[in-house]
Amino acid sequence: MDGTNLHFDNRFLRELPGDSETGPRRREVLGAAWSQVDPTPVVAPRLLAHSHEVASLLGLDEAQVGSREFADVFAGNALYAGMQPWAANYGGHQFGNWAGQLGDGRAISLGELLADGRRWELQLKGAGPTPYSRGADGRAVLRSSVREFLCSEAMHHLGVPTTRALSLVVTGEAVVRDMFYDGHPRPEPGAVVCRVAPSFIRFGTFELPASRGDTTLLRQLADFCIARDFPELGGVGQSRYAEWFLQVCTRTAVMVAHWLRVGFVHGVMNTDNMSILGLTIDYGPYGWVEDYDPDWTPNTTDAQGRRYRFGTQMQVAYWNLVRLAQALSPLFDEMAPLQAGLDAFRDRYAAEDRAHLVAKLGLGQFRDGDELLMAQFRELLHTGQMDMTLAFRALAEVDPAAPALAPLEEAFYSPEARAQVLPALGDWLRRHGQRVLAGGQSQVERRRIMLAANPRYVLRNWLAQEAIDLAEQGDPSGITELLEVMRHPYDEQPGREAYARRRPEWARERAGCSMLSCSS
Ligand code: AMP
Ligand code: MG
Repeated sequence: MDGTNLHFDNRFLRELPGDSETGPRRREVLGAAWSQVDPTPVVAPRLLAHSHEVASLLGLDEAQVGSREFADVFAGNALYAGMQPWAANYGGHQFGNWAGQLGDGRAISLGELLADGRRWELQLKGAGPTPYSRGADGRAVLRSSVREFLCSEAMHHLGVPTTRALSLVVTGEAVVRDMFYDGHPRPEPGAVVCRVAPSFIRFGTFELPASRGDTTLLRQLADFCIARDFPELGGVGQSRYAEWFLQVCTRTAVMVAHWLRVGFVHGVMNTDNMSILGLTIDYGPYGWVEDYDPDWTPNTTDAQGRRYRFGTQMQVAYWNLVRLAQALSPLFDEMAPLQAGLDAFRDRYAAEDRAHLVAKLGLGQFRDGDELLMAQFRELLHTGQMDMTLAFRALAEVDPAAPALAPLEEAFYSPEARAQVLPALGDWLRRHGQRVLAGGQSQVERRRIMLAANPRYVLRNWLAQEAIDLAEQGDPSGITELLEVMRHPYDEQPGREAYARRRPEWARERAGCSMLSCSS
């Protein structure tokens, strides 16, 4: 089956100004939102994995996904009718500094697919150079592609707003990377992921024209983004822009509160990696907190400044929204609506965080003192070097009337840290138990809520690495199995306990498990 059942409607190209030059010659692109550029074909595309859910969202049936043509299209070797490849132009603040024009250096969008009344942009990552590739090759290695593919889907099933992933194709070509920037480049297998979202517009999409004083393009982009991606918004003129900014702020708050709930660290929260729809986007050196530490970052490139650590993601998101507000300020006569959006971010974040904490701790209605109870538990997890996912999950099994430590035992990484934290943890469990009983929820209801807020399975870094090791040998079974486990992260899955284990000792200092760089 070919792609003739698919209907593309490429509004981004049709309604926004494009670059007059086509092709991948590296250049500054002024006054344009996109450049036309084809994917660069690869020698031997092979489909390694795909998401059934995303295929079905897009109206692709399994026979179609299994076809030769599908692997060709989603490696960048062929196009379905209606596809019109482009790379988007945007800028961004990276690690706190304005970085100028960045753009899709290795992402190429194929088109906007209409399916079941919804619009999905299909975008290849790793499909070859574009005008925005600067000094780089436009390619992606298999390890980072597996990580992006799996985490996109895992996050979705965890209930975290995210871009999705349709497919993972190996290219049959090698890509050379210096994994730790230490002068030891080596060839690695290359891959292409097709990611899928209603929009890939980023904060940096608006920052770039604003930085150039191009208010015409800035306004075109804002009007376009509102019309296509926020059609539900009311208001006219500036009040419409104000509503839009408020929406971006609150969606960002919702997303980041979920990250803190599930133990996710994005790792590169540059403004070019912030989605205007409040979706988690650009899975690079992300990671999952295991032995709890609010200061942990998986990104070795950021080891010095530790800007993008787990516990400060809310503050960084706020900082990023301030950059967006500055970029949008030419559209406003006064700054009050922008400030209102930023304030709404703080309020919404606080409300989401409270909702998550009462659910995670099983407290019923929020009361004064609950935030302190949560802060104390996090502090104990830190001192006790306890596994975040296992510890929260275990709380549902503690009897509030007679709190015992037993369910939490599997969360400890170190006997010494365990011994150190035991007395205080015992005291906390008693206070928690009293608070739970005062909440008046039925035991059944409380357990249900707690188990739905505290996942059993998350995409632990070492689990992804095991799947990558197999995939690099040509065996996709680790990816398929992990994808299957992550489809039901809140359910007990008998026989799959190994996927819920705390990090094994071998993974403590292993590259890809505790240390990741941007070299993907
Ligand atoms: P990231 O930190 O992955 O969001 O990337 C920042 C910028 O660098 C984006 O504009 C990317 O498109 C670009 N980039 C990253 N890796 C590559 C690559 N291998 N080839 C071309 N551009 C890249
Ligand atoms: Mg990026």
